[in-house]
Amino acid sequence: MCHNIVYGRLHQPCGCFIPMSTEKHDCNSPRCVFSTSHPPGCRSRACENMMNVPRQVPIRRSPVNCPDCARDKGERARLNALKEAWRAQGSPPQTPAGAGGVSTWSG
Ligand SMILES: [Zn+2]
Ligand SMILES: [Zn+2]
Ligand SMILES: [Zn+2]
Repeated sequence: MCHNIVYGRLHQPCGCFIPMSTEKHDCNSPRCVFSTSHPPGCRSRACENMMNVPRQVPIRRSPVNCPDCARDKGERARLNALKEAWRAQGSPPQTPAGAGGVSTWSG
């Protein structure tokens, strides 16, 4: 199953990950519609038509809060705590976007 690899900057105090660019990891399976090994004309419903959750790879680490969190520290810290609680329960508050047309972010 293919997935996107998201490179970005991790802000260590707030734990926010700011995406900088994405890259597709090809699983090379002919049964996966996202793979370059998949036959272009294939319409089999048995083929994988979902991408796996993107993997975040921090290529930079920042010792300071991200701009958002620097602005409203208290609120974001509270949200992060909530997010952690969700994660601990194994039910994420939101489903990540799958295959997107976005390949790069600027900023
Ligand atoms: Zn794949
Ligand atoms: Zn942040
Ligand atoms: Zn197929």
